[in-house]
Amino acid sequence: MPTIEELNAKYEANPLEGIIPGGTRTKKREEPKPQSYYDAIKKKFAEERDLRVNYRPEGSKQYTSDFEGSLSKYLDDPYGGEIKPRAPIKDTVEVLFIGGGFSALLTSARLREHGIESIRIVEKAADVGGTWYWNRYPGVACDVPSYDYLPLLDEMDYVPKRRYATGDEIYAHCQAIAKKYNLYELAVFQTTITETRWDEDEKMWNLKTDRGDHMKARFVICANGTLSKPKLARIKGMETFKGHSFHTSRWDYDYTGNDLSKLQDKVVGIIGTGATAVQAIPGLGANAKELYVFQRTPSSIDIRDDWATDPNWARALKPGWQARRRAAYMKEPVLSEDQQAAYAAVSREEKIRKQENSNIDHMMRIHKRIDEIVRDKTTADALKPWYMFMCKRPCFHDDYLPTYNRKNVHLIDTHGKGITEINEKGPVFEGKQYELDLLIYATGFEVQKTGIYNKIIGKGGVDLNDYYSEGIRTLVGIHSAGYPNLFIMGGYQASFQFNLTDILNTQGEHIAACIDYCRKNGYHAMDVTPDAEEWWVQEVISHRGKTTRNQECTPGYYNFEGEFNRRQDGTYNGGFVKYIAKMAEAREKMDQYFTFIRKN
Ligand code: NDP
Repeated sequence: MPTIEELNAKYEANPLEGIIPGGTRTKKREEPKPQSYYDAIKKKFAEERDLRVNYRPEGSKQYTSDFEGSLSKYLDDPYGGEIKPRAPIKDTVEVLFIGGGFSALLTSARLREHGIESIRIVEKAADVGGTWYWNRYPGVACDVPSYDYLPLLDEMDYVPKRRYATGDEIYAHCQAIAKKYNLYELAVFQTTITETRWDEDEKMWNLKTDRGDHMKARFVICANGTLSKPKLARIKGMETFKGHSFHTSRWDYDYTGNDLSKLQDKVVGIIGTGATAVQAIPGLGANAKELYVFQRTPSSIDIRDDWATDPNWARALKPGWQARRRAAYMKEPVLSEDQQAAYAAVSREEKIRKQENSNIDHMMRIHKRIDEIVRDKTTADALKPWYMFMCKRPCFHDDYLPTYNRKNVHLIDTHGKGITEINEKGPVFEGKQYELDLLIYATGFEVQKTGIYNKIIGKGGVDLNDYYSEGIRTLVGIHSAGYPNLFIMGGYQASFQFNLTDILNTQGEHIAACIDYCRKNGYHAMDVTPDAEEWWVQEVISHRGKTTRNQECTPGYYNFEGEFNRRQDGTYNGGFVKYIAKMAEAREKMDQYFTFIRKN
């Protein structure tokens, strides 16, 4: 049996884990190669990218997320049951969250610590959980280590069951947080906010919903997630398909069976090979009579290396273990003077070249792993990603590649073109008809630039979308001038971390501290000053576009499908540690960054 010291070493937080998902990588020292080798691969990367950009010049307009008419069925909630009738709500709360996922849960926990009682979650689903409510497809899991991803483990006195938590464990954790912090009491489910309007006389937000409610709130927090609205590729004839179909975030277990056993006599197709499809395909391959995977661009698949949590390690954990683990990986590496001098002596071009070469080495190890696992050479070649690591969301799976060795699993590689036609029998590619019983869309989610879906009208009747028409304007991605007491979570101009809950937790702490500051100082409302907002916009711009990677990357939602993008309409790239420090600075100098309003 391993000692606790050995177990601790195994579980020690890897500083990369919060930054890049997955823990174990195909690492190996490379034999030196001539630069011409790397240049040839870079040329191939560029060719593959151009091919894809040319196939979809319409950029993000190739997708739709407004599911009207016959497409509206793709939004139906298969998990929530009948919409429960209720009378319209016309009341006032202190804090209202639009959305009930981790953003709302984490911030609520912090608000409760400050003694705030009147908290309402308004959520279109039938429960809390956000992403983890909707995404229940077979194989769903998070590939950021659970000990970091699952938030509030110290507070909840909970140790995750595995290194990578499955969707149902994460969903149950969300529900447990809502129970512990008493968030169900005022929560309103199966309800969508349609308008959020600032009333300057009352200095309150007025919110309307699709259920006829008219609620008022002093503080509103946009907690509706960045990847929460499913999108479909606009494919000619898709409405005519006569078989069964759904989006991965609305999995129809009535049709497939909970264990997918109802697929044994079914021919199934899946469009897309992103992170969702990579997790769903092994189960589909093991259960469907035939499975057709329609691929446009392969994902990079590295080792997953999952394990069950060792009970001895879990038992030995001392209170506050998650906070200490987080503090350990948040430490920025300290370079010695010699190391700093050596780093400074290398030119910028040389640094970029070295980075690119090691990135290519990594991608070639991903290729090699495919060759080692996938027996059919044509299939193996088609599964090889030809782009720099991190151009697309990296994936980690130990069963995905072996699935292609099954006789019933067929990879239909569209080599960048994608499926462009569907008829009543199923997809058609290069004149060949694929006749299906079930078609699954694993085509992802709209990336909403502002993270805002309802109409938000601030001071002077200005719609937030109009306010952002020349580019997003915020302080730390959270506050916008003219929108007092409105806080935006998980949107742009905030830092990016793969461990999203880390960002949300940090933002939640900041928002709760702001609200607490208002309450303690007798202020009714706070509004960021235009100067502070402008300062942050310039901070964001100054940290973007350090490299040309976005232009060189294969298109996808990471780079707005290759479209032009304003430099301020993106993440703050100055680093997570600096982002936290900037938020703390804003809180320390509240009077410089915000104006405060007392109620008459
Ligand atoms: P993605 O947007 O990543 O993937 C959409 C897929 O659909 C891509 O493979 C895309 O191809 C493909 N596609 C679109 N149109 C067509 C077409 N006409 N024909 C064929 N293929 C098409 O969505 P996902 O739901 O997979 O993932 C979204 C995000 O959710 C992830 O990036 C990740 O951040 C998160 N996630 C995390 C998980 C985890 O922790 N493991 C698991 C699941 C999701 P192309 O690449 O060419 O555009």
